[in-house]
Amino acid sequence: MIDLSSKKAIVTGSGRGIGREIALKLARAGADVAISDIDLETAKATAAEIEALGRKSVAVSADVSKAADVEKMFADVLAAFGCIDILVNNAGITKDGLLLRMKEEDWDAVLNVNLKSAFLCCKAAAKPMMSARSGKIINIASVVGLMGNAGQANYSASKAGMIGLTKTLAREFASRSINVNAIAPGFIRTAMTDKLSDEAKQKLAGSIPMQKLGEAEDVANAVLFLSSSLSDYVTGQVLTVDGGLVM
Ligand code: NAP
Repeated sequence: MIDLSSKKAIVTGSGRGIGREIALKLARAGADVAISDIDLETAKATAAEIEALGRKSVAVSADVSKAADVEKMFADVLAAFGCIDILVNNAGITKDGLLLRMKEEDWDAVLNVNLKSAFLCCKAAAKPMMSARSGKIINIASVVGLMGNAGQANYSASKAGMIGLTKTLAREFASRSINVNAIAPGFIRTAMTDKLSDEAKQKLAGSIPMQKLGEAEDVANAVLFLSSSLSDYVTGQVLTVDGGLVM
């Protein structure tokens, strides 16, 4: 069994969806988990669930695309926990549209929330992790960052960028025993994919070798592995969790 007792984690965008499931999974393995979300109410609700498991939690409201919010968020979490062992960059948005109709503001919003946020959070977490000479950073990318997707130029570019960031930081931090890996989920059942019509979901499922969408817990299981000592010799990798969609 994976034991994360005494570990301190922070998961961005963990008020709901995949982030919430990741936070609960880490807490069930023994970690104390800081819940960060742009929506303080959902963050507080997840934090209460973590505390009900007997772990420590702190709920922080932050727009992770903003440097000042990220700076304050890490200061608050370090004040509460004293250190950060695990960072999961999960917050993400979509603003889909074909390139010729995509507005500049939709490009900027998606790149800022999905990619700039990971740059800001990695930078803030790297300082305490470097002093401790250990740490685990897990970036939640997407299969569309590997294969592209019509109608998602901004989203695919942000997730491909996250993969480049992951590999670069893995090289920069390897000598300090800080592992940096990415997870590329396929199509997972959450509010993000609920926006699709039933017909679109059926078509999607038909294109997946396992013939079904994934669950948030499938992604959380991969995060648990990459947060634990079982993955100590794994860095700079992209683990697809997609029912075989990309292989
Ligand atoms: P979700 O249900 O929409 O949850 C995203 C979370 O991020 C929400 O709690 C949201 O807060 C929060 N958030 C949005 N903008 C933020 C910001 N600027 N600062 C801080 N938090 C912010 O999405 P999900 O499906 O769980 O996706 C989680 C991650 O997995 C994303 O990075 C997504 O790209 C990736 N992913 C998802 C799928 C999928 O099929 N679902 C596939 C591949 C990758 P609010 O509730 O206030 O909006």
